[in-house]
Amino acid sequence: MKTQHTTESSEIKKEHFSVNGMHCASCAFVIKETIKKMDGVTVCEVNYGNEKAHIEYDPSKISPTQMNDKLLPFGYSLIDHTTHSGSSTLSSEKQNKKIELQLLKNHASIMMVLSAISIFVMAWETGAESMRLLPEMPEYLMEFFHHLLPVFATYALFVVGVNYLNGIKRFLTHRIANMDTLVGLGTLTAFVYSFLVTAFEKVLTPYLNTQSNYYDVVIVVIGFITLGKYLEAKSKLKTNDAIEKLLGLQAKKAIVLRNGSEMEIPIDEVIVGDTVIVKPGGKIPVDGIITQGSTTVDESVVTGESLPVDKKPGDTVIGATINKQGSFHMNATGVGSTSMLAQIIALVEEAQGSRAPIERLADKVSAVFVPVVLCIAIGVLLVWLIVGSFFMPFSQALTLGLLSFVGVLVIACPCAMGLATPTAIIVGIGKGATNGILFKNAESLEKLSQVDIVVMDKTGTLTVGAPTVTDIIAFSGTTEDEMLRILASLENYSEHPLAQAIVKYAQSVNVDLASVSDFHALEGKGVKGTVAGNIYFAGNTALAHDLKLNPDTNQLEKLASQGKTPILLMDTNRILGMCALSDTLKPESVSTVSALHALGKKVVMLTGDHVQTAHFIAKSAGIDEVFAQVLPVDKAKKVQDLRSAGHRVVMVGDGINDAPALAAADVGIAMGTGTDIAIESSDVTLLGGHIAKLPTAFRISRATMQVVKQNLFWAFIYNIIGIPIAAGLLYPWTGLLLSPAIAGAAMAFSSVSVVSNSLLLKRRRIR
Ligand code: ADP
Ligand code: MG
Repeated sequence: MKTQHTTESSEIKKEHFSVNGMHCASCAFVIKETIKKMDGVTVCEVNYGNEKAHIEYDPSKISPTQMNDKLLPFGYSLIDHTTHSGSSTLSSEKQNKKIELQLLKNHASIMMVLSAISIFVMAWETGAESMRLLPEMPEYLMEFFHHLLPVFATYALFVVGVNYLNGIKRFLTHRIANMDTLVGLGTLTAFVYSFLVTAFEKVLTPYLNTQSNYYDVVIVVIGFITLGKYLEAKSKLKTNDAIEKLLGLQAKKAIVLRNGSEMEIPIDEVIVGDTVIVKPGGKIPVDGIITQGSTTVDESVVTGESLPVDKKPGDTVIGATINKQGSFHMNATGVGSTSMLAQIIALVEEAQGSRAPIERLADKVSAVFVPVVLCIAIGVLLVWLIVGSFFMPFSQALTLGLLSFVGVLVIACPCAMGLATPTAIIVGIGKGATNGILFKNAESLEKLSQVDIVVMDKTGTLTVGAPTVTDIIAFSGTTEDEMLRILASLENYSEHPLAQAIVKYAQSVNVDLASVSDFHALEGKGVKGTVAGNIYFAGNTALAHDLKLNPDTNQLEKLASQGKTPILLMDTNRILGMCALSDTLKPESVSTVSALHALGKKVVMLTGDHVQTAHFIAKSAGIDEVFAQVLPVDKAKKVQDLRSAGHRVVMVGDGINDAPALAAADVGIAMGTGTDIAIESSDVTLLGGHIAKLPTAFRISRATMQVVKQNLFWAFIYNIIGIPIAAGLLYPWTGLLLSPAIAGAAMAFSSVSVVSNSLLLKRRRIR
């Protein structure tokens, strides 16, 4: 890695490009290495799974055009799509892919016919010659085919297989080898040999077996590989339809109120601040806040949760969700690229293009794979020629050597290895998105599968997060009204859910709030401020102890053991009164905790609340262990301690005041409520605040990693077994030699099977 000194003046630009011309995993490696070496580039990741490159660079030193110029000679190009809007490029990209796919399909179909004819000839000849099962092929037919096959082979190699020949050219001029080079060298060798023995039959007959040529090998190998490429490309397109599904959700038109009249306009023309009118049964066009009317909304398209949600004025609604029976006016807050759906799409796209740590092994292997295979193939040929000649005539050794040479080159393709991880990750992340679970990147998805402890924040995660005041107690010298007035006045300046609940309660009983000066929030303890010249404090027992005050523990514990959170109102020398609030457990918390237990996870609750309160809630939710009265700063430390003890920890929080703890965990999971996605500090977001999605997130990550491992296993094992057989290792003992045609079929099959296995994950029901 190279170091980059970033000064404030030079800003690093992060961009995603589509890459044209990629054929295999080693292409990804070549592109990555080429771009990374360029001056001004800090990060370059290339993903063969979705044919995208993520590049971070200093635009004052280098431009995408310069990168492109560097790549063009190798046959690759970058497509910059930051200048276009997301959806239009996606469709044009898809259009290009479709055209490419159609061409591949045509080639594959023609090649299948040609291969069938070659196999027929091959089968008849071997059937008649060695097994005497069939009568000898009539002379005129044999003549005909012997003139026809070279034509087919020429077409196969120079028209369909032109990429492979370019691969050789690239290797010779730039010393860059990839899968194309391997297949190209293999098939060209077979072709040239066949051409020589047919063209110079008379001259060569004393030295070589001029009766056997390998035109059929050329045809069948290119045939199978093309078929494989076609099937692979087709399935690859399918792995990534989650984004299209999301795009398809968008409404096309919106009714807005402008200059007092209703008009229907295309969705792109809605601007922030517009009053949008939504009728029953329609799609909500953009994100916004309800200003008038109430309704229920089916948010399942975004959050994956099928229960409709009640909405009233002041509530946020998400574009692309479905309005049920009500009709309402809303103030547009998120349109175009700032809308929640656009953010989700951008996030999913980025996550799908990211690389999982497990890929490092495959990366290392494919980096050296092609040159190593080339050496093996040449070595194998030499061994056949030198050692083989002791045991058999030279012409036979040459025949077998050439077959092995071609077989090794053809079977050893790193394609399956390059596809193993990204295709599964793309499916897994897409599956998450359709279930309302957003993974930030492949690493989060991978790490989640290794977690053994789930730490949950209490407020807003396990509980509804909307506490209500249950008790108001004033001590001697103060009235309840006076105590509530001061408390609520202080809390009016705080953002804390407890504070908001107190203010709401005070307003409901018509208490007039006083103005407060010198307000301070005391993290995890409470608040302080000056009302009418006196300093007051509101908060928990820790705060009381800081003030050297001793609250009545009996009374506190009585409230706390009922699951209520007690809050004390104090001045510098005494406790004026007490207020208790209760927050209800989310109905799905109990089933979520038991589902997590069933998945073998230990569940821990972490809260700043009173010990008794915390235990009450934990008990009702079925949680094993509680850390209570933990200050926000110590929450991260608690998570860190668990990790140091050897655990893999996921922290689940609302992402508001527990960001450090989310960041400290192996995987931080935030509840995304409303329309903002708290993804910055978290690795996974559960949209709509649906904690019940947590077990689903675990299941998706586990299933995806299973598929990744299966894929990698098959991709590796296939090469480990295939190469020695193609090299002829079994020949001396069993007479078995993998024919290049079968090697071609096997190679195509391995890529197709890896992609299909990933696609199976898509069909799997994960709830
Ligand atoms: P949680 O883990 O529930 O999110 P916090 O760290 O936000 O807890 O708060 C911990 C405790 O600090 C609360 O239970 C409460 O007793 C006290 N506290 C925090 N903010 C306030 C506030 N604005 N007014 C009164 N008490 C507060
Ligand atoms: Mg909290």
